[in-house]
Amino acid sequence: MSALSPRDQIAAFVLLVVLLAGVAVLARRLAAGLRDQVLVRCRDGHLFNTTWIPYATVSVVRRREEVRYQYCPVGRHWSLITPVPNR
Ligand SMILES: [Zn+2]
Repeated sequence: MSALSPRDQIAAFVLLVVLLAGVAVLARRLAAGLRDQVLVRCRDGHLFNTTWIPYATVSVVRRREEVRYQYCPVGRHWSLITPVPNR
């Protein structure tokens, strides 16, 4: 059936493993980025953790000045939120 020689089959297998490893590393990095929990504060001073996806906000100049409009689960309202700088 297979037209590949044993050496070609090994080469193909190695290539496949390398590709899968690369995809796994990428997927892990992506998942880690998406799970980036950040402490934020809404305009009313409520503190809560949220998933802050980097570079998803429009005006990312300095990270501490990032502002986003999001639902505040503490006060149950919509508000502008900003990340709380890490101590
Ligand atoms: Zn709030």
